[in-house]
Amino acid sequence: MAEIEEDAIFTIVTLDERDERLARLLGIFEERGIPWLEGRNDCFTDEELESSRLLVMSYDINATVFGGPRMGTTYDMTEACKRCGAGARQTSAMIIDVEDLHKLEGRRAATTPYDDVLVDEKLAAVLAESGATGLSFRGVFSAFEKRGHIQLPWRQLCATHTMPRMSPRSTGIFPYKPCPCGRSSFTGQTEIPLRLAYRAADIAGISDVNVTWEWFGEVKFNGDVNDSVLAAPYFLVTPKVWRIFRDAGVTGFDWIPIRVIDE
Ligand SMILES: [Zn+2]
Repeated sequence: MAEIEEDAIFTIVTLDERDERLARLLGIFEERGIPWLEGRNDCFTDEELESSRLLVMSYDINATVFGGPRMGTTYDMTEACKRCGAGARQTSAMIIDVEDLHKLEGRRAATTPYDDVLVDEKLAAVLAESGATGLSFRGVFSAFEKRGHIQLPWRQLCATHTMPRMSPRSTGIFPYKPCPCGRSSFTGQTEIPLRLAYRAADIAGISDVNVTWEWFGEVKFNGDVNDSVLAAPYFLVTPKVWRIFRDAGVTGFDWIPIRVIDE
């Protein structure tokens, strides 16, 4: 299904890999010299999500509000890698860019570019009442020039449990600017579906909300957190948390089951 805008820089077309129109489309691109990027993602039924042990809660690019280190959110770096900042521990409320406030309108959940998950306060209350384990909340503020920080009716979801290292049999990720700490600079490979694998022993101690040990994404860190771009861990949740988001009518996130392997 494609909606093409006249002045669009690019257009996203999503097709089943078995759809015969896919080969025809690629043929047209080649014939006319139209550049394209190919991404492959798995799709899952609700039953498959329901029976998974953990789901990667992949952020919704349409609901991203800028927040984090460069907006004044503070972090404790004592346990973090000195080179890449992986392991930075947030110590303040989440501060988001006032310019992005309009993006929260009409939404119940959003994320920052660092995969921080934000929910409106009603959804936060449902999550708190659900007794979901490993979950804590922080306030969400926006900085206004003259009026200082103003609290928004939103909460950030924080995970208290960090997973062990994932299995090397995970696919769709690779270290593109590896840091000697081995923990950061993982990124996706669009042509290969993201499939995180964990050993059975590693998921014995999971909570309903967890983060990966590995940190993903671009890093620009020179020791000053306020001027940095940090990588961030993925958020992994149980189907219990997914159900709460689904029942609240939240759309736009990708939910990708992890694979449990014997090793
Ligand atoms: Zn590092």
